[in-house]
Amino acid sequence: MPNAAMTYDDVYRHLYHQNTPTEVHYGQSESVILRPARGFVDGFDLTMQTQVGCPAGCLFCYVPAGRMLTPAAMRGEMGERWGFEVRRKIDAVGQFEAHLKRGDLAGKTIYWSGVTDPYAAPAGETRAIWEQLNAAATHLRPRRIIVQTRFRPDRDALLMHRYELSTLTLDEGPAVVISYSIGTDHDDLIRAWERATPLFDQRMKAIETLREAGLWVVPTLSPFGLWNNLAGTLRRFQQLNIPYLTYLFFKRETHSANTPAPFIRFLEQNHPLLLDRQWQQSQRRVLEAIYGEDRALFGKPAFASLAAPHQVDKEYLSLGLLETEHDLA
Ligand code: SF4
Repeated sequence: MPNAAMTYDDVYRHLYHQNTPTEVHYGQSESVILRPARGFVDGFDLTMQTQVGCPAGCLFCYVPAGRMLTPAAMRGEMGERWGFEVRRKIDAVGQFEAHLKRGDLAGKTIYWSGVTDPYAAPAGETRAIWEQLNAAATHLRPRRIIVQTRFRPDRDALLMHRYELSTLTLDEGPAVVISYSIGTDHDDLIRAWERATPLFDQRMKAIETLREAGLWVVPTLSPFGLWNNLAGTLRRFQQLNIPYLTYLFFKRETHSANTPAPFIRFLEQNHPLLLDRQWQQSQRRVLEAIYGEDRALFGKPAFASLAAPHQVDKEYLSLGLLETEHDLA
């Protein structure tokens, strides 16, 4: 059973043997916002980050565990600074506009973003990016933008909707995909493991609003935690005509995106079930029984599917999504 008594500060102290930093330190970065996609994101053309570091402070986040993913100054020796150091990239919106106007993004697939949550950025910044996209000539637009978040992208749902309706992609897939992280419906676990992210009901509300706007949402049950009502949540996704979902368990000793070692040790002591292969198999069976084997995707294929999600199951997808778009039109 989840240890409801533990707070974020308790877990932080357990991991790093010190108290939680009292504030997030914000600075500026001269880094560029767009880079060619490499490594585990190589199925996309570009990755975009408008800031360095992520203020969400998820204690399980894989980013500080990968030495190449973020500078040491952003994570600290053990990962203890991750979530408490953020550098906003100078003129991120201006940089984006320049790329867009130059044609650098035309026809490209952009992953926004694997190493900092795009919706942990100021609302004015994400809104301005969608406004730029809506104002761009259609031949300059990216093929697809994949937003990876556990915050509230629904604040831009209307702009995304407008963009989706006015953008024709060459492969006939969606112009916008929201890969939405929702790993548990236990608010006590969200509070204890993630410093600044929305609770379960708010995340479901975000998914509902995005779907009502006719947008593609791929719920990402990652890292897969404990659930009060997994089946009920999956059925709600089905009611929302969500064609498929992805999931990922806590990872240790794999080739990429490992859960940091201190958090694995914490799980071993406090939630060994989450690392238990048999239990994971039982959860996989629930996902597959309700969603279907080919619509509950795991691991690398799941991640790769985001680049062309409409190809996962064309027949079902055309049924599920067009209904909502017609309702809105
Ligand atoms: S929101 Fe995502 S990138 Fe940010 S700390 Fe949490 S898991 Fe890491």
